[in-house]
Amino acid sequence: MTPKQRNRRTLALTAAGALGAALLSPAAQAGADEVRPECPHSLTCDWVPAAYQQTGDPADKDTYGNYDTADRPDSNAIKFIVLHDTEVDYDTTLKIFQNPRNQTSAHYVVRSVDGHVTQMVKNKDIAWQAGNWYLNTHSIGIEQEGFAAEGATWYTPEMYRSTAKLVRHLAAKYDIPLDRQHILGHDGVPPTSAAGTKNMHWDPGPYWDWNRFMALLGRPAVPSAPRTGELITVSADFARNRQTFRDCEKGADLPPQGSSAVPLHTEPSADAPLFSDPGLHPDGSPGTNCAADWGSKISATQQAVVAGREPGWTAIWWYGQKAWFRTPPGSGTTVPTAGLVVKPKEGRAQVPVYGVAYPEKRSTPRTSPSPPWAVRSSTPSRRARRSPAGARRPPGTTTRRRSTPPSRTTTPTSEVARSTSRSR
Ligand SMILES: [Zn+2]
Repeated sequence: MTPKQRNRRTLALTAAGALGAALLSPAAQAGADEVRPECPHSLTCDWVPAAYQQTGDPADKDTYGNYDTADRPDSNAIKFIVLHDTEVDYDTTLKIFQNPRNQTSAHYVVRSVDGHVTQMVKNKDIAWQAGNWYLNTHSIGIEQEGFAAEGATWYTPEMYRSTAKLVRHLAAKYDIPLDRQHILGHDGVPPTSAAGTKNMHWDPGPYWDWNRFMALLGRPAVPSAPRTGELITVSADFARNRQTFRDCEKGADLPPQGSSAVPLHTEPSADAPLFSDPGLHPDGSPGTNCAADWGSKISATQQAVVAGREPGWTAIWWYGQKAWFRTPPGSGTTVPTAGLVVKPKEGRAQVPVYGVAYPEKRSTPRTSPSPPWAVRSSTPSRRARRSPAGARRPPGTTTRRRSTPPSRTTTPTSEVARSTSRSR
């Protein structure tokens, strides 16, 4: 977030606190006691409804918040789960979602201190949470109380356990595969356009322990292919992978600490520039070690196609280019992985990829310089979207309740409030 965004966050929180109760409809409040949260029995879970209310001119049917009603999974298959962090505390999060003027919501909120779960939007309905309408319509969003730049402190063992129980329950109910192609961080949601990249979010950030979480889901990263295979899963140990990232919003270096994220360089050298995400750095400037610069990192449990190997270093195809990261012998930074790799047809240099899986006004595929290889298929990863030879459109047919919504240009505020700008 920029300082400007931080100011807006303050304003948003003030508005939420002052207006939340007044705007909450009596019907919604009355329903609070009648709805049983959709949670596994082993979780402490309650139901606090997000606002669903008109906010402006009654003649304008688009002035409402904070979610869309639907009849999922019949109306829209539920294929993904998106993990977030709130960037405000738990109580404030609930207030923000109860104020329809904030135009943001999530299906669940998990409290840090004890892992308590509050459901706020029914899973049949479409919460405004992912910043990508396709993902919104096909996903369940889980907000976790925390601040991405404040390290692992907020992500307590209780939170990991609760979120994992919830995800396992939802995955079983909706037949969602427990892999990183379907269990996403908000930082893995693709923008709907290249220009929209800078507005995408980076939560839950580099201090969410993905190895730990996927192990709790019963899906730890284990070798599943020969060592010479072309696919790898990053498996950097969170405690031993100590990184010094920077909070570029505050202009402060963060203390060295364990992380899921591994820096990516343009050459096999720690002195080489960090990888430059073309969406975040359209002027071609080098990537940064800002915690928020997701393009200059790869995270544990993410998968990629190997593009080269040098002693102590491995290159992957990343946005159609080579990106290098340290893989000292015996470090266990990667494990060889079996999986599909998409490659262009003979005579073609590229496979078009898209940020959404429904027709856009401009339906011409966005392309970028052609890489010689593809990336793994079937992930709606923002990296893959910009890897022209890696078609990772989410599998299956697209069911769409409404046309592409008008893009909103409000500057994001808090994690939950800032979803306003792109969540529909
Ligand atoms: Zn988020």
